[in-house]
Amino acid sequence: MIPFVRDFEFEYGRRDQVSPLIQRVIANNPGPFTFTGTGTYIVGRDAPGAGVAVIDPGPMDETHLDALLGAVEGRRVTHVLVTHTHRDHAPLARPFAQRTGAPILAMRPPARQTHASGGLDEDEDEAFAPDVILTGGERIEGDGWSMTALATPGHASNHMAFALEEENALFCGDHVMGWSTTVVAPPDGDMADYMASLDVVITAGFDTLWPTHGAPVTQPAAFLAAYRTHRLEREAQVAARLAAGDRTIAEMVPKLYAAVDQRLWPAASLSVWAHLIKLVKEGRATTDGEPTLTATYGA
Ligand SMILES: [Zn+2]
Repeated sequence: MIPFVRDFEFEYGRRDQVSPLIQRVIANNPGPFTFTGTGTYIVGRDAPGAGVAVIDPGPMDETHLDALLGAVEGRRVTHVLVTHTHRDHAPLARPFAQRTGAPILAMRPPARQTHASGGLDEDEDEAFAPDVILTGGERIEGDGWSMTALATPGHASNHMAFALEEENALFCGDHVMGWSTTVVAPPDGDMADYMASLDVVITAGFDTLWPTHGAPVTQPAAFLAAYRTHRLEREAQVAARLAAGDRTIAEMVPKLYAAVDQRLWPAASLSVWAHLIKLVKEGRATTDGEPTLTATYGA
C-alpha cells in the first residue's frame, strides 16, 4: 500500500510558509488530476528585496495571478521555473513573467503529437515557450538558494524537477504525488521513462518532496519504494492478463479496474496502454503492428 496523504490544510490564494525557504500559494482549480488545485511554490527568503524563484505559476487564472503577484510583492522574482507544459502548470508563466520581468526556464515543449484520446484534462499548453531551455543538470543560482534541474520524463516527455540544495528537497511537479499515483498517458507519457526517472529520484535520497498538487512527501524513501512497487505490480497484472489470453486493452481494463469507478476507465486504459508499450519494448509482449490503444497484443 502506498502511504498516501490526503489530509491537507490550505486556503485558496493564501501564501503559506511551508519550510524555511519555501512558500506556497494554491490555485482554485481542483479536479480529478489536480486534487485540491495547483500549488505554486515561491523559493527564497521572505525579506524585502530578496530574490525568489517561482515554480509552476499554474493555469490561466486572473485570481491566481493576483494572488501570486501579492505573494511576491516587495521581492524580486529572478526565475520562473516550469516543471512541464500541462495546462494546470504552464499557462500563467508568461503573464506572471511579463509582470515581474523574470525569465521562464523549462525543458523544451514536446514537438510530437501529444493529444491522448482518453478524455484526460491534462492537455498541453501549446503556446508555451520558455526563455531558457533546460535539458537537466543545470545549476540555478539565486539569492540565498540554489537549485539543480533534474530531468524526470514519464508523466510528460518534458518533465523537469528542481532540487533545492539548502533543504535537500525536490520540487517534483507531477512526477510523484503524495495523494495519488501519477498518470502516465501515451503518446507523450512513457512508462519506461517514468520508471527510470523514479529510480533517479529514489537514488538521490531527498529529505522532502514537494509535488505540485497536495501535501509534501516527508518520508520519501518509504513512499517511493511503495510507489515503485505499485507500478511493478500493475505491470505484472497486465502481463498476467496477456498470459491468460486477453488480447486488447478493452478486454483487460474491466478486469484490472473492476473496483474502480467506470468513469475512470478511459484514463485506466491509457495506463494499461503505457504498460503494454513498455512490455513490447522489453520483448515481454508482442503486438500485431504499432502498440496502439486499440492494437491486438500477445504474450
Ligand atoms: Zn498537474
